[in-house]
Formats: sequence, C-alpha cells, structure tokens
Amino acid sequence: MTKKVSEIFGCMVFNDDVMRERLPKEVYKSLTKTIATGKTIDASVADVVANAMKDWAIEKGATHYTHWFQPLTGVTAEKHDSFISPVGPCKVVMEFSGKELIKGESDASSFPSGGLRATFEARGYTAWDPASYAFVKDGSLYIPTAFCSYTGDALDAKTPLLRSMDAISTQGIRLLRLFGDTKTKRLTTTVGAEQEYFIVDKKMYDLREDLQFTGRTLFGAPAPKGQELEDHYFGPLKSRISAFMTDLDEALWTLGINSKTKHNEAAPAQHELAPIYATTNMAVDQNLLIMEYMKKIAEKHDLVCLLHEKPYAGVNGSGKHNNWSISTDGGKNLLDAGKTPAENAKFLLILAAIIKAVDDYQDLMRISVAYPGNDHRLGANEAPPAIVSIFLGEELDQIIKSIIDEKTYEGVRAGIMDLGIPTIPTFRKDTTDRNRTSPFAFTGNKFEFRMVGSSQNIAMPNTVLNTTVAESFRQFADILENADDFDVAVGKLLRDTFAAHSRIIFDGNGYSEEWQKEAERRGLLNLRTSVDAYKCFNDDKNVKLFTTHGVMSRVELESRQEIYFENYSKIINIEALTMIDMASRDIIPAVNSYLGEVANTAAAKMSVLPTVNCSVERDILTRLSELNAKAYRCIDELKAADKAATSISDVKARAEACCNSVIPAMNALREAVDEMETITSSEYWPMPTYSDLMFKI
Ligand code: ADP
Ligand code: MG
Repeated sequence: MTKKVSEIFGCMVFNDDVMRERLPKEVYKSLTKTIATGKTIDASVADVVANAMKDWAIEKGATHYTHWFQPLTGVTAEKHDSFISPVGPCKVVMEFSGKELIKGESDASSFPSGGLRATFEARGYTAWDPASYAFVKDGSLYIPTAFCSYTGDALDAKTPLLRSMDAISTQGIRLLRLFGDTKTKRLTTTVGAEQEYFIVDKKMYDLREDLQFTGRTLFGAPAPKGQELEDHYFGPLKSRISAFMTDLDEALWTLGINSKTKHNEAAPAQHELAPIYATTNMAVDQNLLIMEYMKKIAEKHDLVCLLHEKPYAGVNGSGKHNNWSISTDGGKNLLDAGKTPAENAKFLLILAAIIKAVDDYQDLMRISVAYPGNDHRLGANEAPPAIVSIFLGEELDQIIKSIIDEKTYEGVRAGIMDLGIPTIPTFRKDTTDRNRTSPFAFTGNKFEFRMVGSSQNIAMPNTVLNTTVAESFRQFADILENADDFDVAVGKLLRDTFAAHSRIIFDGNGYSEEWQKEAERRGLLNLRTSVDAYKCFNDDKNVKLFTTHGVMSRVELESRQEIYFENYSKIINIEALTMIDMASRDIIPAVNSYLGEVANTAAAKMSVLPTVNCSVERDILTRLSELNAKAYRCIDELKAADKAATSISDVKARAEACCNSVIPAMNALREAVDEMETITSSEYWPMPTYSDLMFKI
C-alpha cells in the first residue's frame, strides 16, 4: 500500500467530519439533530446539504449521483443521474438540489413487490436516510435511501429496519426513564457482522455452470482431503489471497468501513472478514458494500468470491455472525453488566427482555434467515441448528436460576440490593465460555446471532431483533409504569420472565441428536426448511407485533411472504434446470465417451489375446453403465418434478412442491452423478473437481 491508512480512511465518505467542515454551523447542527433523533429533515436545510455534498463529491471526481437502495431482490439497486444542468446551448453547470437529495422517483415495476404492485401504482420513490453517510464510488455520489411504493408501502429492506430502530428506541427509553435516566434521548442498536466467504480461481469457476448460475456446486464428489486436519483455520494466507485481502481492505477503508480482522476459516479456501461494529442501519449498508467489493476485487485478481452459504457439500458452509447490542446516545452499551446492583438490575431486565423476545418470536428469528442457501446450513448438522435457542454462559445461567428459585446466588460478591427477590447480585461478565454451536449467544456485552447466512442482507434479522425486543420493552414498561413499588415490581418481573422463558436457554451441544429431542420436549419450534418457516410469517401474533410498532403493515407483511415463497421457488427452479443441463449435456456424454474407451480397450485387448483378463473393463462397464442409466432416469424424474412444481400457480403450494419433490429429485440425481465421478477417468470428467476448486488457488 502506497498511502497511509490514516490518510485514506473514510476519504470517500461524506461523514461527520466533512459535514462539520463544509456546512454552515446552523445547518450542521440541524442535520446532526435529525440524525440523532431520527426525525425528518427541513427542506431549506436539505438544499444547503445537497449543495455541499455536490461540491465535495465533484472534488472527489464524481459527475453523477445515485439514490442507492435495497429492493427485495437481496442485492442493492442504483440509477445514476448526472449533476449537469444546461444553462445555454453549449454550457452546463453542475447542480444538485435538496429535493433531489431527499427524494427520488423510480419505476418500481421491475422490483419484487409481492402483490403491492397489482394493487397500487407502479411508481415508487426513494427517500434519503441521513443517518447513513453518503459516499463517492466509481464516479458517483451514492446516497443511501429507503424505497417505497407511491402509497408509502415499504418495498425494501431498509424501511422496516429504520422503523424498528425507532420502535426499540421509543420503548427502551420508557424503561430507562423508570430507572431514573432523564438524559438519554435515543437508543440505537449496534451491529458488527462477521462475513464468511469462499474464494475460487476464476479459470475453474468459468468451467462450472453451477457456480456461475447458482453460486454453489450442484455436483461434486468429496475431495480426498477436506477440513479434517483443521490446518486451514487461522493458517497462513496464500499469497494470491493475501494480495486480494490487501486490496479489499484498502477499498473498504476509503469508504470508511472499519475492516478489522481477516483470517482463514475452517474449510479450505474459506475466509472471514470482520469490521468494527456500527449503528445498525450503517452496518447494514456497509455489509452490502463489503459483499459487493469482495466480488469486485476478487475479479481483479482472477479470483471469484463465493458468498453462497454452501458452495461445497461436505465442508463447512458460510455464515454471517451478526453481533448485536443496544447503546444510548451517550455511548453506554446497555448489554454491559454494571458495577452496582442497581445497574445490574437494569442489565438483567434488558437481558430478560431479550430472552423473552427470542422465545416469543422464535419463528421470526428463523424466518429472518430463511432462504434456500441457508437451509443447507441450518439443521443440516453444521453451523447452528434450525432450532432457535440462547446461550448465556455459566455465570448468567446460575444467576437466572437463583432468581427463579429465589435463592441467594453463590458467586455473590459485594453490594446486594433487595428488589423483592432474595438478591440481585453483583457479578462480572463472563466472556470465557463460548459455545460455538449456539444460534444466539451472549458474548460478554453483545449477542451474536449466528444463524444469519453469508449472502443475505442483514436488515431483516436486525429488524426482527429490534422489533421483538421493543415489544418486550413495551410490555415491561407497561407493567413497571403502573407499579406501586418499583423495586418489588422489577424483582417480580425478572422472576416471572425468567421462569416463563428459561426453556429457550440452552448451553449444550446444539448439533446433537439429543438436543432435537430435548427441544421438542421443551416445546421449542424446529422449522427445518425455509418453506416451513415462511408459513408462520403472517401468524396473528406476528402481524400484531409489527403493526403495534409501526414496523410493517399487514399488506407489507403479506407482500413479503409472497416474495419469500416466490423467491424460494425461483431459486430451486434455477438449480434444477442447471442440474438438468449439466447432467444431460456434459456429464452423461462424458461418461459415455469414457465407456466407449473402456469398451474399445477391452475389445482391442481381446482381439490380440482372446483369453486376456478384462475383468476391470467389464466391471467398470457394468457399474458405470448402470449408474449412467440411473442418472439418466433421475434427469427425467427431476424434469417431471420441476415441471409439476412450476405449473402450480399458488405461491405457497409451488414452494412446497419445490421443497418436497424437486429437492429430493435433485439429491437423487446428484448422488448418481457423484458416484460416477469417483469411477470415471479424470481425463474425461467434464468439469473441475472439488480438489481443483478448493485446493488449486
Ligand atoms: P469474535 O466473536 O470472533 O471473537 P469479537 O468479539 O472481536 O470477535 O467481535 C466480533 C464482532 O462483534 C466485531 O465485528 C465487533 O466489532 C462486534 N462488536 C463488538 N462490540 C459490539 C457491540 N457493542 N455491538 C455490536 N457489535 C459489536
Ligand atoms: Mg464471532
């Protein structure tokens, strides 16, 4: 790297420092207030901000601006307009108004709307999110925006997220007031998303239709070596990978993204990047940029970055550990256990609220990470299971147990405050014990939601976390605001909540068979597939939750559920068609050619020496011909299953058919093909193998 990191860091971001430097004092104050309180911005202020932004962006080489948004396609969208405005036949000036900054009109008709489009107009609009910084990239000023239909229904991932951030702030502040906090004006949730990914050589990638169309291998026998030696995890970086990571860091740093940690992951050719956490809406935007840049920069190095949850069967998949916490505008992390018993009471109450939220809305947690790619991880005996549970660590477990049993906590140190229960102990946070199998783990001063998939937008998981916890806060505040004796009420509330929801706490091995049984005994949900999960999305309790907090309306929820089902079927359909194509046009012909060679060899041998031993050729011919015939039959069966599924018009029934009949047909075809791969000459096999893909970089 030629320049100093401190010089390049954030140089392409219209961040707080730039705002302070470039905006008149009053305007700066007004804008930061807007950001801090989440309120809408004044039109006159917007004009001044727009002008300053434009001048700054032009200095950074921008000629265009774009409203950057997150439609429900899972990727971001942008449409660029130049700043130029004609002022004569051959003269232009560069202009950008407050109106253009705040609001953009866009044709919404080509984005998924889940039925909203049918009912309403096709036009949509984008609205500036001033709390996420604008930035310059590729000659354009990028303005992070929310995307709504013309009638104001959310068509994107960001709008509900911003609403959920308001909800948790509003309800959380009610609780803080009860604890005597009169200063805090806003709570924000913070997120640090650790991003896992695979890297593959571009030349190999280009030879794999499945990787190109679906992001994962649909065929592939295991390589002789997998991850069993555990020699890849934290191992030395290969030089090509290291060069890629260096470029990636530099690009992310210019965008003000705190890319902090990089290392090899468990599987061969798997890696991880962790940024330093940020306010949730900003963290979501940054994660989208991280994913975009991973792909872009990999290409510059003749590599391809695979963000799919399960590019290769049989080795670890990729997830995104979503570290989440709540903090006050004064910078205090509410998930930091306090030093005094009173602070601990507040901490325990917030903990209780989160435990209750996760237990009450296990289904929403599961839905927020449900899509076909992630089904290969969750419940497939790796990563976290599909059952949602919480890991707290031994000390918190003991404290909760003592509160439920009304017993004095053994580990008690100093200063005990009587809250109507025997003790609210002081304790130090316990960060030593980490359970890697838990879907939702407390790690000292934050929760780590580990079910999130590597390719997904993290907006929805965080929308669910914020909203469900806001609901616990709301219920708690309702009770405590009306209590005669606050301390007694807090004690009772803690005991009642822990007693009612301790079933969701589990510290054992989440991958084990016993846990499946135990979870069932506890009455926990086990939504194995995405389709199972989507079905619960619009249950009355969920509609009530989202509408109570103004996060999503019934129509918005219904539209999203439709998009979930539809998207699921589309992905499975593409995978099925890709398999059919590869098997029919590449694999079966390749195996036939090889069979031809084997037959010719045997015939040639026998023509010279009629009694020669041809048992190998015979055996190969028999086994491989049978498998090839089986694969051929499987193709027909898959075609039939796919055709039957895609002809179903009801979105839910179609997704069910994809899940229950197309996927099993895909699995059957894969099984036959993978077995053929192990006995076909590598010279004839029509594509790079798992060894090539994972080890030749
Ligand atoms: P690991 O979980 O791999 O041990 P760390 O504990 O260092 O790694 O942190 C993982 C991620 O959690 C980082 O992205 C970090 O910025 C983030 N993180 C740390 N504190 C918070 C917080 N208060 N809120 C949200 N994320 C946080
Ligand atoms: Mg982690």
